[in-house]
Amino acid sequence: MQRYANARDAVDDLRPDVPVYGFRPAVLKQDAQRFLKAFPGRTAYAVKTNGEQFLLDCLAEAGIEAFDVASPAEFAAARTAKRDAELLYMHPVKAQSDIRLALEDYRIRAIALDHEDEVAKVLRIVRALDIDPATITVFVRLATKGHAAYELSKKFGAAPGHAAELVQRISNIGFQTGLCFHVGSQVADIESYRDALGVAAQVRKDAGVELAALDIGGGFPAPYRDEGNRRSAIPEIETMMRRILKAVDAAGFSDVPLIAEPGRVIVARCLSVIVRVLLRKGRRIYINDGIWSSLSDSWTGKITLPARFLPDPARKRRHGKDELVPFRVCGATCDSVDILSRPFHLPDTIDTGDWIEIGHIGAYSLSLRSRFNGFYPDTFVEIETPFEEPPGERGYATIETMGDSPQDLPEFDRS
Ligand SMILES: *Cc1c(COP(=O)(O)O)cnc(C)c1O
Repeated sequence: MQRYANARDAVDDLRPDVPVYGFRPAVLKQDAQRFLKAFPGRTAYAVKTNGEQFLLDCLAEAGIEAFDVASPAEFAAARTAKRDAELLYMHPVKAQSDIRLALEDYRIRAIALDHEDEVAKVLRIVRALDIDPATITVFVRLATKGHAAYELSKKFGAAPGHAAELVQRISNIGFQTGLCFHVGSQVADIESYRDALGVAAQVRKDAGVELAALDIGGGFPAPYRDEGNRRSAIPEIETMMRRILKAVDAAGFSDVPLIAEPGRVIVARCLSVIVRVLLRKGRRIYINDGIWSSLSDSWTGKITLPARFLPDPARKRRHGKDELVPFRVCGATCDSVDILSRPFHLPDTIDTGDWIEIGHIGAYSLSLRSRFNGFYPDTFVEIETPFEEPPGERGYATIETMGDSPQDLPEFDRS
């Protein structure tokens, strides 16, 4: 990857017409190490958040030794990053052939499930491969109710009574037993974790079985631009983790080995995308990226990405005042839903040909981009300074915070 001090330098050098990803390895390592330091248990990075090989390699260099994986491609990528990486196969519903591959070829010994038929699937393969069940930890995924920005517990998890039965069944077979949950993504409040830990404590009590591990999942909040009010203030990971660990103790789990599966909180800040304004039409700008490429995660409207204006120095004449105004941002494809759900606040002087660096897109961006309409951004550069530290006076760390006041943007579609 070519290296630049910041996005301005990259733009001046490349004058890119396609989106360019700005990867910040120093930031990634810093955020990974912050998490490792804040969490006293085993940290297993959730590969689905961003599974690019260069990123996994960088995480391994930063000291990440375990990975939460869900598919053969993720097994391979994690082991390429670190030959002796510990893999935790935490997808509750798996193909038979993938379970065999995990146990036989990758020697994975931690596996999650939430149903007795999945126990039978795993057991059949364990018997066929003549593996001692006591060498495998089977985690029962618990259903939890949460208040996450992204509610993921609707899809997976056993209800408490069912979970206790599963734990007993697994233990009777001779497996080591664990409990796991995942409260969603970008969870800034402690309640979701506290509720889940309460469920886990109940299941442990009802099952009466010794636990080999408690996996508290992911969901830890990344430092996006908060909305400027207390309600949405995003706690630092150290603060959040202190609260979670207190809740872990309160639920009676201080004697059980802990695992966490962070994704977003580790990778969000390490990547930006530099997009070009293909056209300005009044208060609308059309860019060369969108919800079918790097920005689908922002499309849900649940997170607020920071953005920085990078004017084209070749444009000599500009209109408008140098103040921030909201723009509706339209994506690259011909699809009419390809419009960002929130406006961006950018200088009124922005025009066709200018660039915008959109920050903190490391989570759920690269892994979700599609080839829809033939657009597939795949250009990367390395950037040395964090997004938050713009060196030049032309850098505007602006945000799209308006959300609630459609009158500021008459043509904005609130759907
Ligand atoms: C997606 C996922 C994670 C990571 O979630 P983040 O919100 O990115 O931290 C962790 N565990 C499981 C089971 C997941 O599905």
